[in-house]
Amino acid sequence: MEVTFLGTGAAFAPDAYNASILIDRSILLDAGAPLTVHLPKVGVSLDAPRAVALSHFHADHTFGLAWLMLGRVLSNEQTPPLRVFGPVGSTSYLQQLLDLAWGEDMRRLSWDRLQLRVEELKGGDTFELEGSRATAYRMEHSSRLNCLGFVIERDGVRLGYTGDAEMSPQLEALIEASDHVISEMTYGAEAGAMHLARADIEALMRRHPKTRFILTHRSSADGEVSGALLPSDFQTLQLPLR
Ligand SMILES: [Zn+2]
Ligand SMILES: [Zn+2]
Repeated sequence: MEVTFLGTGAAFAPDAYNASILIDRSILLDAGAPLTVHLPKVGVSLDAPRAVALSHFHADHTFGLAWLMLGRVLSNEQTPPLRVFGPVGSTSYLQQLLDLAWGEDMRRLSWDRLQLRVEELKGGDTFELEGSRATAYRMEHSSRLNCLGFVIERDGVRLGYTGDAEMSPQLEALIEASDHVISEMTYGAEAGAMHLARADIEALMRRHPKTRFILTHRSSADGEVSGALLPSDFQTLQLPLR
């Protein structure tokens, strides 16, 4: 499995882009990065992603979709269909996002031309993500939003993705079900609300010694966590890690 990081920064990180991870050049986990620039930069056309899994509706995970959707339609006469998987409310969120970004006419044009299909998920739902079995987990992050993490089984790898999360039993279950997990680590030494800090990650690593940790959604590009991988923007990893 090939994993390319298009953005590894937390929402207001000064030195890294917002969350988006490309799996096997065809699946996006979140869409916070400027995708019309970052996909070509890693040699992937705007047509290549066939499915996007959204963890939640914060801007740093979603606003890049407005560019990907209309940009893909305007730069290609024919474009393959796009599927979006996300929390309950995804259909109306995407309509509002596109209406605000480009107006109703362009929203209708991109929706039709992409043959957009939106699937709304709850924690515990399983779904098929581009030929892979995937499971949604409800994450605790913002009390006002439905927030999800995912586990994707692909090429013999069980890859977890936390989206944004604070400590919870469901987070532990997601990590336990994963042999590799892409986890947020918004905070370093100083913990804060709604997210994980380095001490949380170290505790999770002790409790789940069989899971390999890949840390993203960081407030600073600096720092390290012994035993974990901290990728930078545009870095590609091959899973399973050796
Ligand atoms: Zn975030
Ligand atoms: Zn968030």
